[in-house]
Amino acid sequence: MGVGIKATKKTNFKKTNNKKNIFDSIPAELIIDIVARVAASSSRDLFKAKLSCETLHKFADDKYIIQRASLDKFPVVPWTLNDHKQAIFSDRCADSENPEALCRRGIVRYFEKMEMNSGIECLLKAAKSGHLEAMYVLGLIMILHGEETKEQGMKIIIDMKNLQTKRKNIQKIRESFSTTLGSIWVKNTMVVGQAMPTCCTRQDHAKSIGLNKLADLECAACSCDQEIVHLWEILPKSI
Ligand SMILES: [Zn+2]
Repeated sequence: MGVGIKATKKTNFKKTNNKKNIFDSIPAELIIDIVARVAASSSRDLFKAKLSCETLHKFADDKYIIQRASLDKFPVVPWTLNDHKQAIFSDRCADSENPEALCRRGIVRYFEKMEMNSGIECLLKAAKSGHLEAMYVLGLIMILHGEETKEQGMKIIIDMKNLQTKRKNIQKIRESFSTTLGSIWVKNTMVVGQAMPTCCTRQDHAKSIGLNKLADLECAACSCDQEIVHLWEILPKSI
């Protein structure tokens, strides 16, 4: 019996050894799906996978994977050589319509480069893919742009806040936006140094806006104003 088991093991070992690469026996779609999941969790792990074997290296550049790659720990603005490499990757992600990369590109173009139309276009694309931060920023920008788009912007923010039953979610979105905005040089003169717009016109509501940002407000317009107050808090006071 013992000898039999030994013999079988030996045969299996030989079989495994004869294969050039274990990934050769897995369908390409499955490899792409697995690598996309790795990339969605961490792009650094994607880079490691890419370096680990030739097959993964070949698949790692697949558009499906690039579209889903996470940019979580990547800096928005490159400072070091390594950041620069990551910025090139972020650019590739945005070109492949990765929603997270598009959202960042949209924020940078709108708030820093003052390329407002193309910034809004990027945010729109990301929002259409369901990227919540892009949707949130787009809602704020629409409020800032005044009467024509203000109501639509307010609707986006109100709907988002109503749907986000867990307050943590809207807080997370707000924090992520603060981090992105805090890492760029905000130079948009349509926003910086301007008077803060308000959504609620009721005099008796005005005092409650700045207080307890996470409180549920019954007035939808005040709820939008809370987000505008937050934006004004994180914006530089002058250029
Ligand atoms: Zn109000």
